[in-house]
Amino acid sequence: MKAIQITETGGPEVLCLRELPIPEPGPGTALIRVHASGVNFIDVYYREGRYKAELPLVLGREGAGTIERVGEAVAEPAAQGCAVMASFSPGDSVAWCEAAGSYAEYAVVPLDKLVAVAPGLDLKLAAASMLQGMTAHYLTHSTVALKRGDTVLVHAAAGGVGLLLTQMAAQLGARVIATVSTEEKAALAREAGASEVILYSGSDFEAETMRLTDGQGVDVVYDSVGKTTFEKSLNCLRARGLLALYGASSGAVPPFDPIQLSVKGSLFLTRPALGSYIKTREELTERATEVLDWVAQGKLKVRIGHTYALAEAGQAHRDLESRKTTGKILLLDQTGRAHVGLG
Ligand code: NDP
Repeated sequence: MKAIQITETGGPEVLCLRELPIPEPGPGTALIRVHASGVNFIDVYYREGRYKAELPLVLGREGAGTIERVGEAVAEPAAQGCAVMASFSPGDSVAWCEAAGSYAEYAVVPLDKLVAVAPGLDLKLAAASMLQGMTAHYLTHSTVALKRGDTVLVHAAAGGVGLLLTQMAAQLGARVIATVSTEEKAALAREAGASEVILYSGSDFEAETMRLTDGQGVDVVYDSVGKTTFEKSLNCLRARGLLALYGASSGAVPPFDPIQLSVKGSLFLTRPALGSYIKTREELTERATEVLDWVAQGKLKVRIGHTYALAEAGQAHRDLESRKTTGKILLLDQTGRAHVGLG
């Protein structure tokens, strides 16, 4: 099978298309024919070595496809995997995230990471919804349960997570102030439900946010940008507001003295990760099912901004890192081609 494997960490050039044996599904896992694989910023962190993994590594942690074969039953009869196992068979359409190896024609995925994809839902949309959709879901429903009247600041609002987060926050009745770097991205953020959009590439988002909130600040800042926005994000909060620092697209935030939280108004700071919000099988299925249902019903719009052939994974990373992309990026298998790229 074809797969994008890295044997060393580094820039996009380390992403190599290789011919590898089709992997064998072990106990409690399934072999999936991958139809679409999600490209996420976390893949960049693994490629760079910022997040550690054993090499060689087939990159990619999200996908959707069809089950080819289910591995043997797990040895322990009471194990969670057994109950999960009974619910999956060859031919089923499934989606997953937080399991390595999706930049490939076939992937072996633990059964307890799989969720069923309803027959009417396009596998590309399913692959595009899992990681970023569940992230937006937990940030707006669990990290904080947003409600009507809340005001939030969403950075990089035209990105993969950003567009979904903006939609969910607006649907919950929050006023969304968005930041983006270009006019094209501003239009997308507005379409997703942002009330106001700040072009933070050319203006001071802290000053603008304070102006838009009559000097009060916002209830929550969702910051995925990190290094270049962190300090000002804290300054945009009302007293006792919350900063959800959930990413570091511009680089890691340097060491920080917690006394700053006190000085700036008894603020809350969290550095959440999706894994903590889908820790149990129940939480994963509830969150994923809700997101996939919303997508199937058209309540949540997933913008697949760019698709690439598997062999072009390096270009997909370059485009993501250079802020050229909007919405979701997918790598498609040989049958699902339709290369759109950046045109
Ligand atoms: P995006 O589609 O949001 O792409 C990143 C965006 O960040 C860019 O398009 C750009 O938007 C903005 N950006 C600002 N500064 C930079 C910079 N210096 N370099 C690159 N991009 C920059 O990516 P994702 O939706 O995949 O992920 C967004 C972030 O969320 C990532 O940091 C990711 O790691 C994190 N994440 C965290 C999760 C969690 O559970 N904690 C789960 C999923 C994602 P603009 O041009 O408008 O500034």
